[in-house]
Parts: sequence; C-alpha cells; structure tokens
Amino acid sequence: MTTCIFCMIGNKDIPAKVVYEDEYILCFHDLEPQAPVHVLIISKKHIDSLDAVTETDGELLAHIMLKVKDIAAELGLEKGYRLVNNCGKDGMQTVKHLHFHLLGKRKMIWPPG
Ligand code: AMP
Ligand code: ZN
Repeated sequence: MTTCIFCMIGNKDIPAKVVYEDEYILCFHDLEPQAPVHVLIISKKHIDSLDAVTETDGELLAHIMLKVKDIAAELGLEKGYRLVNNCGKDGMQTVKHLHFHLLGKRKMIWPPG
C-alpha cells in the first residue's frame, strides 16, 4: 500500500475531481486553488520530482507537455495560462510526486513569489 497521496489519487484510492485521464497521466482540480482554474497534471507512474526524471521518462514528459494545450482548451483558458513545476525544497514542492500546476482565468504576476 502506497503512502504517496498522488499515487493514491492515481489508483483511485482517494477521490479527486478529475478533468482528464489516460494511461499515463491524470489531471484533477487542486484542493486549494490559487486561481479560478487550478488543476494538477500528474504522471501515473511515481517519480519523486522533475529532478528525478531520467532518459526513460522522455516520452512521458513529452506526453504531458503535449496534453497541456488540450486540457487548457477544455478548461476555457483561451486567454492564456501558467504551467508551474515546484521542484525540491527551494522550489517549495510539498507533494513528492511529479506534477505540474496549470493555472488560469486570472492575470498572473511576474516575478512569481
Ligand atoms: P506542490 O506544493 O507543488 O507540491 O503542490 C502540491 C499541490 O497539491 C498543492 O497545490 C495542494 O493544494 C495540492 N493537493 C494536496 N493534496 C491534494 C488532494 N488530495 N487533492 C487535490 N490537490 C491536492
Ligand atoms: Zn506517488
């Protein structure tokens, strides 16, 4: 039994508001949204972080990136969006399972906090 919360969501052991799913990835609404639209795109395979990917994850990473625009379109983000990956301690990563935040429906600020 895994203790990784995103593996548990991927395995449907705990519920999430799913937006998109296929064999390799799952997209669901963040519990604490930081924008009117805030979803997470996770790999179904457990990978600790972007810092832990290897050459063998290349197709998976490409798949995630190529799905972003489809998910954004589905969520009505035609005015734009921000894709975020928090990696490691300084990156403020709190869940140690590879995921990307897709945020939209508000104007973002730069530089980020
Ligand atoms: P990070 O800080 O980049 O690791 O992002 C983890 C994100 O996961 C945060 O935005 C949390 O709000 C979100 N989160 C944690 N647990 C859940 C959950 N059970 N369902 C949906 N989102 C979650
Ligand atoms: Zn995991």
